Amino acid sequence: MSTVLPPAAAAPDLAQSAQQVLHEIFGYGSFRGEQRQIIEHVCAGGDALVLMPTGGGKSLCYQVPAIARHRAGLGVAVVVSPLIALMHDQVGALDELGVAAAFLNSTLDADEARRVERELLAGTLTLLYAAPERILTPRFLAMLESLHERGRLSLFAIDEAHCVSQWGHDFREEYLGLSALHERFPAVPRLALTATADDHTRADIIERLQLQAARLFVASFDRPNIRYTIVEKDEPKKQLLRFLRDEHDGDAGIVYCQSRKRVEETAAWLAGEGITALPYHAGLDADVRRRHQDRFLREDGVVMVATIAFGMGIDKPDVRFVAHLDLPKNIESYYQETGRAGRDGLPADAWMAYGLADVVNQRRMIDDGDAGEDFKRLQRAKLDALLALAEAHDCRRVRLLAYFGQASTPCGNCDSCIHPPATWDATDAARKALSCIYRFRQQGEQGLGPRSFGVVHLIDVLRGKATDKVAQFGHERLSTFGIGADVSDAQWRLVLRQLIALGHVRTEGEFNTLALAESAREVLRGAVPVTLRLPTETRTKLKPARVRGGAGKAPPLPLDEPGLLCFAELKRWRAEVAREHNLPAYVVFHDAALAEMARERPATLDDLAAIGGVGAKKLEAYGREILRVLAGAAAG
Ligand code: ADP
Ligand code: ZN
Repeated sequence: MSTVLPPAAAAPDLAQSAQQVLHEIFGYGSFRGEQRQIIEHVCAGGDALVLMPTGGGKSLCYQVPAIARHRAGLGVAVVVSPLIALMHDQVGALDELGVAAAFLNSTLDADEARRVERELLAGTLTLLYAAPERILTPRFLAMLESLHERGRLSLFAIDEAHCVSQWGHDFREEYLGLSALHERFPAVPRLALTATADDHTRADIIERLQLQAARLFVASFDRPNIRYTIVEKDEPKKQLLRFLRDEHDGDAGIVYCQSRKRVEETAAWLAGEGITALPYHAGLDADVRRRHQDRFLREDGVVMVATIAFGMGIDKPDVRFVAHLDLPKNIESYYQETGRAGRDGLPADAWMAYGLADVVNQRRMIDDGDAGEDFKRLQRAKLDALLALAEAHDCRRVRLLAYFGQASTPCGNCDSCIHPPATWDATDAARKALSCIYRFRQQGEQGLGPRSFGVVHLIDVLRGKATDKVAQFGHERLSTFGIGADVSDAQWRLVLRQLIALGHVRTEGEFNTLALAESAREVLRGAVPVTLRLPTETRTKLKPARVRGGAGKAPPLPLDEPGLLCFAELKRWRAEVAREHNLPAYVVFHDAALAEMARERPATLDDLAAIGGVGAKKLEAYGREILRVLAGAAAG
């Protein structure tokens, strides 16, 4: 399958060398998941397509081979990335690790670009990041040609490879041109990486990037550290605030809303409640957006309230929660958006508030869209799968993974697993609701008023409430009037939501009036059992409040009193370094590394080197200072 091209003898040495790079440069003890196989394959010159979830560790898959191959004299790795805003931080992170890296994009002025080009041609760079449109210029291709002739072009890494597919929502025209790399430099190994996994996108990537001979690596799509929770939407902003205060005080996170207006309102409201919340949507000035994104990346504990315009390529590892105030379009979007939480592997939350209006709105948006009928059918099927997830009373993760073709067992880390919901047999209630909708229509056909009504009126009739509207249309005379008085309003809404979610009831027109779908017959006959979650209390507190570390958010490990003090001091020190280097704090050290230092409190450089994330360069650059900070904290 694979094309092994460079000197065969290089392969075993490089596998060894890759292991060394992991220890020395990155300070990590072992590869994660399939990283080893991928890295060894690429080190040996093979092509690969890597499908790995966000936070799975894709960057290492090309950074380690790039460093190992550069050490072996094979030259520079070129990394294609669509996100110029993030190249700066990636290069900054490599710089902190002592790896010679640079980027070429439109943010550089002519002089700076020339300097990078000179370094590139001189062979001193280990990695060069560039946007696809830059790579495909004749000027850049000529430079690659020159490097290649001298055997100094070691690897192409194509990040966010799904951008080549029109199927996905991140399609980028320029990516189509990247097949030119293979045509011009067939002997240079290529590694395409993406977190978007569906079959169609995968096939597109293989075909358009000509990766037919590449080895395919598909990692598990499970993100075990993310806890999935879907709550009944009641007063969404208040529910969100409670969730933030109870579970994520001082944490960084993203709140997704469907519209710009809702983004603005929610951000303003949270800010009024004392939360550092910033809005982000495509309608804001580019400058404002950049500033907000920058603050989110660089400051601790900023909550970004955003439309889906925000998020692609956000590499911030310590996003502790992703909250949805509106329903995403489909499971792919939900998975991708929630996947931005917890890339550092520490516990994180995916929280969503979901209600009847979400179902109605999403269905409506598809119906009213100007897509063709085929596409709409597909969108509806995808929405149905998401609604089934939202309505589920069994393990959310099992359903999520099943959607991506992965079998699993109940996870113990989702709302359904932690608090198995009580259910009730709503078959009878569902039949009552359907027959009431049917009666409305019969009456309408007899010329006695409209043929269909909305949810609120339907529930009033079922519960036997004497409203003006009931009197106006004589609905107290219907045989279904009052037949559901024993079921609460809230429960009726759930019944209808489920009926709409499952497609037995459609909503129509400007006022979302209800109509029976073909499949309603079966439910009416009693042939389809309907089981529902009992409405849960909106406030589901899932875990005890965390131990507080004095300054800001809690550490990722349980720490004793002196440990908490060390952690706070280390964070203060890190903030200074980050400011001096103009980089986000996590690029200097992750929270997890600081917490481990605070727990172990190493007294020597050797002991410090054993902490995860402390590589040779960081040890040399910061080791003494860290020991000094730790000693200072211990002395009080
Ligand atoms: P992705 O690009 O797949 O979303 P990243 O490459 O950003 O993921 O990696 C996610 C996090 O995991 C990063 O903080 C990275 O440093 C860390 N990481 C990756 N591989 C390892 C490993 N083998 N050991 C420890 N941490 C790792
Ligand atoms: Zn579960």
